[in-house]
Amino acid sequence: MSPVRSIIYINPDGTSPVIPLARFLPADPPGIVHCWLHRNASRTDLILDPFGASPLMALEAATSGYRLLTACNNPVVDFELRMLASAPTRDELTAALVELASQKKGEERLETAIKDLYQTTCASCGESIQTSAYLWLRGEPFPHARIYTCPICGDSGEHPITDEDVMKVQQLHRADRLHRSRALERVLDSGSDDRSAIEEALDVYSSRPLYVIFTLLNKLEGMSLTKRKRELLQALLLSVMDAANTIWSWPQERERPRQLSTPPHYIEKNLWLELEAAIASWSALNQRVDVTTWPEMPEGAGICIHRGRMRDLAREPGTAKIGHIVTIFPRPNQAFWTLCGLWASWLWGREQAGRFAAVMERKRFDWNWHTSALHAALSPAAAISGPGVRMFGVIPEPAPGLINAVVGAASVSRLNLTGFATINAVEPVQMEWKTGSMNREYKPVNLQKIIREALREMLNEIGEPTEYIELYTAAICALADENAFPPSIQQLTTERASEIQSVIQTLLADRLFLRRMDATAKDPESGLWWLAQPENTQTPLADRVELEILDLLINKREILYRELLQNIHQRFPGYLTPSDTLLQHCLESYASFDQSHQVWMIKEKDLPSAREKNMQEMFANIKVIAQKLGVRIEGDHPVTWTLHARPEFPLYQLVVGRTAAIDRDLLTNLPDGCEIVFILPGSRSRLLKFKIERDPYLAEQITNHCHFLKYRTLRSIAARTDLSLELWKVLIESDPISLEETTQLSMFG
Ligand SMILES: [Zn+2]
Repeated sequence: MSPVRSIIYINPDGTSPVIPLARFLPADPPGIVHCWLHRNASRTDLILDPFGASPLMALEAATSGYRLLTACNNPVVDFELRMLASAPTRDELTAALVELASQKKGEERLETAIKDLYQTTCASCGESIQTSAYLWLRGEPFPHARIYTCPICGDSGEHPITDEDVMKVQQLHRADRLHRSRALERVLDSGSDDRSAIEEALDVYSSRPLYVIFTLLNKLEGMSLTKRKRELLQALLLSVMDAANTIWSWPQERERPRQLSTPPHYIEKNLWLELEAAIASWSALNQRVDVTTWPEMPEGAGICIHRGRMRDLAREPGTAKIGHIVTIFPRPNQAFWTLCGLWASWLWGREQAGRFAAVMERKRFDWNWHTSALHAALSPAAAISGPGVRMFGVIPEPAPGLINAVVGAASVSRLNLTGFATINAVEPVQMEWKTGSMNREYKPVNLQKIIREALREMLNEIGEPTEYIELYTAAICALADENAFPPSIQQLTTERASEIQSVIQTLLADRLFLRRMDATAKDPESGLWWLAQPENTQTPLADRVELEILDLLINKREILYRELLQNIHQRFPGYLTPSDTLLQHCLESYASFDQSHQVWMIKEKDLPSAREKNMQEMFANIKVIAQKLGVRIEGDHPVTWTLHARPEFPLYQLVVGRTAAIDRDLLTNLPDGCEIVFILPGSRSRLLKFKIERDPYLAEQITNHCHFLKYRTLRSIAARTDLSLELWKVLIESDPISLEETTQLSMFG
C-alpha cells in the first residue's frame, strides 16, 4: 500500500488570451502544459490528448515544440483550433468582412440593411443612431430598454425603448415563423425524431438575431470566395451565433453557462457590432502552428487532428507510438454541446455536423454519464499507449462530481494514479497517472476506513482547517490508490458511485471525527473542515509557508516571484500547495517589490541582524515596564509576570516574536487566570490579521486572554511614567492589528 504521492503543482504563467467561445471552453491557464512537457517529455515524443476539448492547450503544446495527436469529436472546436492555428491577422479578417459588408440586400448594402435593425433615436439629441444592445425580461414580447452611446451628443447608458424600437421587433416577429422553420430544417436529419429537442434549443434565438444569422449565412453561401476567405467569414459568423443567443444575462457577469436556459434578465447585442468585434478574438494569437488531419502527421512540432472519437482513432491501424498523454479534462456542458450541434449544422450542414448533432437530443448530462464519457476516451487512449506511459491531466474549476468522474474513469481505464496536487476550489487540480497492465487486482475494500485515514492524515499534515474540495480529492485519490474502483466501467455502476458518496457523507456528518467551521450554507462546500479533536497535528501550513518565505528572502535577499513559487511548490507539494493569496500576503509583509527589476527584496528591518536588535530592545522594554508595574519577571519564551505576593499564579505571559506565526502550544497550555501578549513588529500586523481571517481555528484559539502588541506600542508604553496594571490592561488593547495597517505606520514597527 503505497500512498498516492504528491506532485509538485505547476503554476500558470500569466493569463490566457480571450479566444472565441472562451466562456464555454475549459478554463486553461497558460504555461502549465508547457512546463509539464518541458520537464517530462522529449521533443521527439508524440503527445496524445484524448479529449481535444481545449484549443489553447493543443496550441500551447505545439508552440512549445511538441507534436500532439488529438481526437476531436466536436466540429466547432475542431474548426476553431484549425483557424487559430492558422493565425489570421486583423487585416485579413477585416478585408473578408468588408467584402461581406458590401454585398447587396435588395437595393441596400448588407451592412446598412443589418444596421437598420438596430437603428434608434437618441433620447437627448434626436439623431438616428445605433443601439449597442437591448435589454429584455424573459418571456416579454418586447425589450424594455436599449443601451447606446450617441456619437453625436455623447449621451450614453440605458434608456427606455421607444415606439420605433417596438415596431422593429414587431416587423421581425411577423416573419419569424419562416426563419425559424428554415433554421430548424438545416439541423433536422431526414427521418430524425429529434425535432422537439432542436426546437427547444432554437428558443434561445429570438426573432431579430435569428433573422440576422440567416441573412448573413445566405449571403455568405451565395458569395464566390476563396476557401480561406470563406473560413474567415465562417469564423466571424460563429462568434455572432454565440453573441446572438439569449443566454447572456444582464448585468453581464463573467459567466460560464452550462445549461441552455434564458436568464430572467438578458441582453440582446447589436450583431453587426459583434461581427466587427469578433475580429479581435480571432486574431488574438499570432503564432502559426502546423495542423494536419489524421493520418497525416506534422513534420515537426504541430497538431494532428483525428476528426472523431478517441475510440475510432484507437481502431485505426498504424497509430504512432505515444510518448505521453496530456489533457485538460472537459466538464459536461449541455449548453455548449447543443449550440455546437446547431452552429455546425447551420455553417456546414447536418451531414458535416455528423454524429455530434445527436447531442442535442440529450438534455441531461449527469456525473455518472460523464464518467462513462471520460472512460470512453481514456480507455482507448490507455490501450494504444501500452503500459508505462505517463498521463498528466489538468482539472479546471474542480467540483467533487468532476473529480470523482475523472478519477473513477481513469481507474477503470487501467490508469494508475501516481500523484495529485490541489490548492483550493478555484485553481485547477493537477493529477498524474501511469498506464497499467490489462488486468488489475480487485478485491472488496473497506471504503470507510480508507477515506477516514486519508482525511485524518491530510488534515494532520496541513495542520489547519481546509476546503471541502481538497478533502474530497484526497478521499477519492486514496480510493483509487487502494483499488477501490472496480476494474470495468460496467461494474462502476450508479450504485457503486452512490455508495462512495454516502460513505463520504457519513464521515462528514461524524461530529466526533470532523467539524465544519465558518459555514454560511448547508452544502459541504461552504466553510472549512477541521478535525474535531486535533492532536499532534503539524504546525499550521500558513505558518510553515511564512517561515519558508522568510528563509528564502534572508538567503537570497531578492527573488523573482516565479522563482519563489517554484521553491514553495517544491517544498509544499500535493495538497499542501498554498494559495497565491497566502504567498502574496507573506511576501508583502517581509519584502518590497522592485518594479524596475521585477523582484521582491527583503526589507532592511527584516534582516536577521536588525530583527535581533529589535527583539533585544523589546526584551529590555518588557523589563522596564515590569519594574514600573512592580511585577516579578521570569523566563524568556515566554516572559512570565507574576505578583510578588502570589508567584505561583502567573498574570501575564509575554512572547516576543518577529513573525506572524503564533505558538499554538502556548495558547493551549495557558495557565488559568493568565493573559498572553504576543509582541510583534507592526509590519506583521496585516499578515497576522489575514491569517486569523482565513483560519477559523486560529480565530477560535485566540479569542480568550490573548493580546497582540506591536513593537511601537510596547516602546511607547515603556516610555510612560504613569504606568499601573490597570492602565497596562487598557494600553495593550490600544493599537489593534488590522488589515489596513499602512506601510507608513509599519516603518516604525
Ligand atoms: Zn445624441
